[in-house]
Amino acid sequence: MLTSDIKLKKSTAKTPASDPTNPYEIMIRQFDVAAKIIGLDHDAYNVLKTPARQYLVSLPVKMDNGKFQVFEGYRIIHNTSRGPSKGGIRYSPEVNLDEVKALAAWMTWKCAIADIPYGGAKGGITCDPFKMSENELERLTRAYTAAMSDVFGVDKDIPAPDVSTGPREMAWIVDEYSKLKGAFTPGVVTGKPLHLGGSEGRLEATGRGVYTATVAAIKKLKINPVKALAAVQGFGNVGSITAKHMASHGIRVVAISDHTGAWYNPKGINIERAIDYRTGNHGVLKGFSDGKLISQEELLTLDVDILAPCALENQIRRSNASEIKAPLIVEGANGPTTSGADEILNEKGITVIPDILANGGGVTVSYFEWTQNRFGYYYPEDEINSRNDRSMNRAFNNVWKVAQQHKVPLRIAAYIFALEKVSKALKSRGGY
Ligand code: GLU
Repeated sequence: MLTSDIKLKKSTAKTPASDPTNPYEIMIRQFDVAAKIIGLDHDAYNVLKTPARQYLVSLPVKMDNGKFQVFEGYRIIHNTSRGPSKGGIRYSPEVNLDEVKALAAWMTWKCAIADIPYGGAKGGITCDPFKMSENELERLTRAYTAAMSDVFGVDKDIPAPDVSTGPREMAWIVDEYSKLKGAFTPGVVTGKPLHLGGSEGRLEATGRGVYTATVAAIKKLKINPVKALAAVQGFGNVGSITAKHMASHGIRVVAISDHTGAWYNPKGINIERAIDYRTGNHGVLKGFSDGKLISQEELLTLDVDILAPCALENQIRRSNASEIKAPLIVEGANGPTTSGADEILNEKGITVIPDILANGGGVTVSYFEWTQNRFGYYYPEDEINSRNDRSMNRAFNNVWKVAQQHKVPLRIAAYIFALEKVSKALKSRGGY
């Protein structure tokens, strides 16, 4: 082949369509589509496009070896038009400003869709919790709380768990914050242990809500739940509880995964056994034997009825979206689908229940926890669960209706619903 041929080929090659994986860029793309459809006015557009406040702190922490390590900690308050800001704190080596900015905005939309009186926020620390001891994590959490003690507040900003944080970290935050303020303040965070002002049903709330949204969609799509097959990506709190609820209601979960691997069993994986195995195996599925080891990509493209990405961002991209066979995707994770992938999924007629709708059960029960803390009166689990189910069904129906009305995918419908609600509050409050 002549060199000139190669040159010719290169110059005529089609530039691959862009597929940004920056979560903030993705959030803005989705936001723009919805804002245009509803003709969101310029002022509201500008206010809601950018986070209201951004905090970045350096956290010096004494490690077990006696040396100091400095970690970066973030808290982004996206918007507080509808109430105090709400959103989790994640610990991961990937945490960065744009990720936390996107996650904070998603919380604003999520709270509006769930119809709970909060704005949106998110926090994070760039660290690898799997490589840190419990003592190091405690010192890091306390340092972060101290640095953010004037940001957090029962009526200001209320954190919660997110990726790699849970009741243990929330208990440390309550303790540090209460000491600094000189008053026991359990309502400053949600997702606490039950014995420290936590709520019944909170631990399972997100996965339960993902399952409720799945059932609501299954009915609309006329998928037979008893014959349905599901693949669940991620086996942390959200993925494992989602899989557990699916399996216990007759959906056959044929594949599960975590960051140590993915497992496939066409007969259905025994989820209870997988949870027990993980619990006794340092929190990971590594070595799990009830299924064949497959790749993460294979899990996403299995021939199933329901795909539930419950791990991290950017799992479904332009590069693998066309291979997806599931007619229904339920986003347990925040931001698992890029906007480039969304275009392909929409063309293929795949229904996507977006993160800001599908995983709203967590923050909904966080709201119940917060109200219980304020009243000092606690509800039984069945009461919390049925309120969560009702709220998820109502949110799903609201978004479904908007989708029909505007003839748009559920993600855009969810944004439309949220934007209308948040901009209304913004306008009523007025400004400078
Ligand atoms: N981190 C969870 C989420 O992304 C829960 C937030 C909360 O409960 O405040 O929705």
